[in-house]
Amino acid sequence: DLTSTTKLANGVEMPWVGLGVFKVEDGPEVKQAVIDAIESGYRSIDTASVYGNETGVGEALKAVDVPREELFITSKLWNADQGYDSTLKAFEATLERLGLDYLDLYLIHWPVPEANLYEETWRAFEKLYQEKKVRAIGVSNFKEEHLKTLIQGSDITPMVNQVEFHPHLTQEPLRHFCRDHNIQVEAWSPLKQGQLFDNDVLKEIAAHHNKSVAQVLVRWDIQSGVVTIPKSTKVHRMKENADVFDFELTHDEMKKINQLNKDERVGPDPSTFNKR
Ligand code: NAD
Repeated sequence: DLTSTTKLANGVEMPWVGLGVFKVEDGPEVKQAVIDAIESGYRSIDTASVYGNETGVGEALKAVDVPREELFITSKLWNADQGYDSTLKAFEATLERLGLDYLDLYLIHWPVPEANLYEETWRAFEKLYQEKKVRAIGVSNFKEEHLKTLIQGSDITPMVNQVEFHPHLTQEPLRHFCRDHNIQVEAWSPLKQGQLFDNDVLKEIAAHHNKSVAQVLVRWDIQSGVVTIPKSTKVHRMKENADVFDFELTHDEMKKINQLNKDERVGPDPSTFNKR
């Protein structure tokens, strides 16, 4: 179920399935979505400072009756805040908006290679980790070349890399590299933002299991060893996306889904994305 977890390199348990809240409005909308998710059994919530909704997420965490240690809260450092001192400052602001005294996972949102600040930023992440203000640290949208640079000059290897991942972008070489370095891959836009629901291969597999395409996608993530955070603000869809622990895709079905790969992104290319 939704309490089922994977163990990160440092032993911290991270739920396989969480709720993403990208583009969910701060205030009542995000507050209600997070409350609904947690009441439906979700324990993991993925936000980011740039989503502008950490305050509403924090209000929801206060409103629910689940002990803090059972929750897994992720946020991300925005590009404009990269750099040592600015990272420490941005982290404190994130904690304050969320109303928390620690995070479960903090991610560098994008590498922004042209700014050349992600290594310095990582020094601050290592400090936050050593001070136990965050239980695990990682990155997002890092390609193999960025990971290599970071690992070479660092004491701590990122525990997670959250990247765009769905059947049109299966990230085989990057996942292989991450497996070799004990970096847990996490999928963003696991439903390709709704662009895969009329795919015939997925529809046929879904029908065979009496499941929806969304459920097949979430199940494919888990069986691929990838943590996943589908987004919805509708309770029935949150429940649907989490109801994936009572069936298994066959080896053949996994293969058929993997063969849908087109190396096609919905999001920007991390090598050039430099929005501040
Ligand atoms: P997604 O792939 O999760 O798709 C969400 C869309 O699918 C929404 O429009 C939703 O209404 C619809 N949907 C959800 N469940 C459905 C269902 N069962 N049936 C039909 N439609 C359904 O897209 P996303 O929000 O881009 O990605 C998920 C999360 O990943 C985000 O909320 C965010 O937390 C994270 N993310 C991170 C980055 C990053 O750079 N690190 C970038 C994008 C997203």
